[in-house]
Amino acid sequence: MAPSDAHTRRALAPVICYPTDTLPTPDWRLIKTLRQDSELVKTIEIAPRSARTFEVPAGHFFRIVSTEGPQVGDLNLWAKDNLQERFFSGKTRALHGTHVSTGDRLWSCLPYMRPMATITDDSLDWYGWDEYGGSVHDVIGTRCDPYTNYLLQGNQYHHCCHSNLTRELVTQLGLSVDEAEAAVHDVLNVFMCTGFTKDTHQYFMKASPVRPGDYLEMMAEIDLLCNLSTCPGGDCSSEHSSDVTLCYPLLVQIYKPQEQVLEDFIPATVNGYNRKHDIR
Ligand SMILES: [Zn+2]
Repeated sequence: MAPSDAHTRRALAPVICYPTDTLPTPDWRLIKTLRQDSELVKTIEIAPRSARTFEVPAGHFFRIVSTEGPQVGDLNLWAKDNLQERFFSGKTRALHGTHVSTGDRLWSCLPYMRPMATITDDSLDWYGWDEYGGSVHDVIGTRCDPYTNYLLQGNQYHHCCHSNLTRELVTQLGLSVDEAEAAVHDVLNVFMCTGFTKDTHQYFMKASPVRPGDYLEMMAEIDLLCNLSTCPGGDCSSEHSSDVTLCYPLLVQIYKPQEQVLEDFIPATVNGYNRKHDIR
């Protein structure tokens, strides 16, 4: 039985958990200067249903580009020399909301909790929110994985984003499957259009609005190791754990700023909490 004052309780106005007005903001003047005369130093093409790792030094930019057709990408980030420090999708969501765009930052896990990357440009900024409550580039969807697929479909499928990211870590870093799977974490769903249904509040996806030429660009706040998977869901308009959907490659471009400007760039420092936790 609901209490007699149920209506009053439900009618209480919500309060933002983490107001961001005291959060350090990106230095846009420096970012503009760094980006202005930067040069394209590397491109990486990621074939459909696979993943590629790439390193981005602090102060450099990386752009994820749609080339041939609508394709969603699942992105993992680590501090280059420390796989323990990884992208913290949950706290990024708590700070910036369910979907991220220009000016938002991708934060690392505890106890490091510092910005790993700042989103500096997003050609899908125009999308905003649709009538279903959907938007682009979410930090709610974890990643497609063969375990959930097995529970729901009962088959063995090996090209979910979780497997693509794992396989790439095994190949490139020489990790065991156990080590690689433990290092893979909840992603930023690049170009994916998602939300929660208004009636049942379930996670939904719909065809990504991304078109060839669209991009999401970020500046590395620390030296990064990145791993990007081309989701087997393609544009994620129907399903995502099979070989049924049409998939396309994604391109990553890495831009290096001019040396003299880069000298002024200070990488993000680890979180200032003293880690005492009142442990005696
Ligand atoms: Zn996926």
